[in-house]
Amino acid sequence: MESPFRIRFIAAASLTLMGLSLFLIHCSQSQKEGSQPRVVSTHRDVNVLLITVDTLRADYLSCYGGKIVPTSNMDALASRGVRFAQAFAQVPLTAPSHACILTGTYPPVHKLRDNGGFILDSGVPTLASITQQAGFETAAFVAAAVLDHYYGLNRGFNSYIDEMTTKRGKGALPGVVPEVRAEIITGRALNWLDTQLQRGVGRTPMQNFFLWVHYYDPHFPYDPPAPYRTRYAKNLYGGEVAYADAQVGVLLKGLADRGLQERTLVVLMGDHGESLGEHGEYTHGVFLYDSTLHIPLIMAGPGLAPKRVITQQLRTIDIMPTIVQWLGLSPGDKAQGVSIVPALTQGKVMPTTFAYSETIYPKTNLGWSELRAVRTPEYKLIQAPTPELYQLETDPGESRNVTHQYSEEVAQLQKKIQEVRGADSAQGILERQPISSETLRQLQSLGYATAGAGRDLRLDMSGPDPKDRVQVLEIIERSSRMINQHHYRSALPLLQGAVHSDPTNPFLYHLLGLCLQQLGQFQQAVQIFQQAIANKVDTDQMQAELGNSYLQLGDLQRAVDAMETAAGMNMADLQNLTNLATLYLQLRRPADAERTLRAILAEDDRYAEAYNLLGTLEIQRGQAELARGHFEKAVEYDPDLAEVYVNLGLLAENAGQPQQAVAYYKKFLEKADPRKHGPLIPKIKAAISSIERGQ
Ligand SMILES: [Zn+2]
Repeated sequence: MESPFRIRFIAAASLTLMGLSLFLIHCSQSQKEGSQPRVVSTHRDVNVLLITVDTLRADYLSCYGGKIVPTSNMDALASRGVRFAQAFAQVPLTAPSHACILTGTYPPVHKLRDNGGFILDSGVPTLASITQQAGFETAAFVAAAVLDHYYGLNRGFNSYIDEMTTKRGKGALPGVVPEVRAEIITGRALNWLDTQLQRGVGRTPMQNFFLWVHYYDPHFPYDPPAPYRTRYAKNLYGGEVAYADAQVGVLLKGLADRGLQERTLVVLMGDHGESLGEHGEYTHGVFLYDSTLHIPLIMAGPGLAPKRVITQQLRTIDIMPTIVQWLGLSPGDKAQGVSIVPALTQGKVMPTTFAYSETIYPKTNLGWSELRAVRTPEYKLIQAPTPELYQLETDPGESRNVTHQYSEEVAQLQKKIQEVRGADSAQGILERQPISSETLRQLQSLGYATAGAGRDLRLDMSGPDPKDRVQVLEIIERSSRMINQHHYRSALPLLQGAVHSDPTNPFLYHLLGLCLQQLGQFQQAVQIFQQAIANKVDTDQMQAELGNSYLQLGDLQRAVDAMETAAGMNMADLQNLTNLATLYLQLRRPADAERTLRAILAEDDRYAEAYNLLGTLEIQRGQAELARGHFEKAVEYDPDLAEVYVNLGLLAENAGQPQQAVAYYKKFLEKADPRKHGPLIPKIKAAISSIERGQ
């Protein structure tokens, strides 16, 4: 059927040929009240599928010379497209690196400097906002809570699916976040494709989509499913890579089976690598060596020649301008990367010589100096308390610091770093805005005057040089492994020694406090958290754990104080607020409880635990009907939240509906976790038999 838009598009396409991109069509029917008018501009008639595989080392792909894992699906993509042999991440951390990929800017511009506690600058265009403006249907499926919509990467996506299938468990290691396995992500993405195809999106001329699919599996903790777990028992990271490759295969086959391969530009890449012990680092985030910065990058699709390998250096900030130019759109004036389309089409060498990288993770998490680096094809300069220069051609493993032999190169590269970091204030103080301005406004309207009192962070290279602390990294690695296997007692002496030698490292206090809590030594845990506070390295998580420890010791007032401090330090952490609201309820402070629960729902109106607590609050107030409504919402938003079924059961019993009550209680038993609900389980069983006896 002839689309009424067909003629306009053809007219528009000819205008583009003449170099004019002013031809805009207002789609008034899709305009929402108060939102930006949706503008459809001309673009190349292709879909875009961006696949980011988290924590994927380039040298684990067979097409990059990897020998451990056969990555046949990623290799197949490379053989029908272009493989970039020298692609480098700007930040070895998930959220900041994805911000570079999507915005084409360095962290001082996009502002998402670290995982958690930083929000993407709302004024920087993203690949999603640009394609959405151009009329693309946009969707993202992300697999880890560090990419929650909260941090702003959802901007420009019509649909941004960040629902996690795991929760932050009690006793989870710091940095271990809720995630979703790759097969679930693949399923969600293919379902979305089917829905779009039914609407004609994806295969009708000029009705295109931009789809971003994120796989998190190779990220620590390494936990591949069968059969990869046994096949790669000696290298579980490799097992995760093999599993991710298989899922990439399912996704790409799904694309081909739906007739979309010839109409879709596929870009597959890592967000950063993994150290795996190199340079004394085990995961990523601390150092700026190629172990964590070298990433695989493959592009394939209509118009791209197969089996090509491009060896010029490429940066994650070049991805957005490249895709956008390939589509015939403009990246806007904020982008700092360059489009390498001329390299793709004409083999031209583009000005991507200087790749800036940074990590503030050592400062935010370990109390050490932040690091910055600039990489050229010949050299890498790492700006650290003791600077490092590596000559990459003769020393690709970055093992011989040659700073003293090349002072001119050092000076020139330092200038390049300065150019990029210029956006930071002169004193190096980075104001941390952990919540969005909209959330801030909502929280303030609820009476949280101190909400979002951003903590300043000094990026002045103060603190120990991370490379002088590799022995601490080793202890963190060893003790984390012990904690993962619940060997808390073995981890204790290691961590106590490390805290003694590195007393301003917040991560060590986290781990030590965690072990003590797991061993039931709450008084000692309180002491450890207070030591961290005295050393001014406490975090909201530590204050929250201090509150939990006081709770275990029965000191409710101190628990409330600590949890209020935690919530004030980071209002973004809804778990902190949930714990606080629970305590207010226990202390019979209904007004404070309600205010806190409303704050949670202002941020996430599908937060099941908050509805459960609101229900409990209404019970305290004698409002059974209101309570029931809240409990039902809680079940609707999270059918696995076991305790709600007890509440619904109690309500049913009180309302003289014993059958219904038994059904709810049985549901609870089905969902209950013996570790969490241990003492409640026998009581509920007794209640069931008592009701059944009475009938
Ligand atoms: Zn990552």
